Amino acid sequence: MNVSYLSLGSNMGDRIAMLERAVGQLAAHPEIEVGSISSVYETDPVGFTDQDAFLNIVVEVKTTQSASDLLEVCQKIEQYLQRERIIRWGPRTIDLDILLFNQDNMETERLTIPHPRMHERAFVLIPLLEIAPQFGACFPAEDEGVRLWGTINSD
Ligand code: ADP
Ligand code: MG
Repeated sequence: MNVSYLSLGSNMGDRIAMLERAVGQLAAHPEIEVGSISSVYETDPVGFTDQDAFLNIVVEVKTTQSASDLLEVCQKIEQYLQRERIIRWGPRTIDLDILLFNQDNMETERLTIPHPRMHERAFVLIPLLEIAPQFGACFPAEDEGVRLWGTINSD
């Protein structure tokens, strides 16, 4: 069984509903078991600051799938949730990234693990360390710009 940590973020539309639906889609997959789910954190946008704040969570998943199959599942969920959103809100409601996959290091055209920008992103590290504090030594985090927002309803 492979253990992976996924980062989920949304900054458009009903942000919390998007996160909940994405977790629901992961849990519904026959080869994916959702484990720990972090609290929801609200994060000011970095880069393009002229957009709404994000809600971010990190989810632990256990799966028999390979990392590249898991990426495909994540991208299908993005497409599924964005398809509905394109009609009402515009081009991007949900982002699912693979942060870690076991202890693997890999770099292909489509997939880099650990996620190449996770070290510098407080909105990824704060929720990751909440549910997986054992990574604190590898990935120290400062909590600038990241606020506890609430919890998701994962039923
Ligand atoms: P970002 O997540 O950086 O905002 P996208 O979600 O549009 O941007 O992803 C861009 C590409 O990043 C994807 O097509 C995917 O192939 C690639 N990618 C590389 N490594 C990863 C990873 N660990 N998790 C998710 N996507 C990844
Ligand atoms: Mg992404």
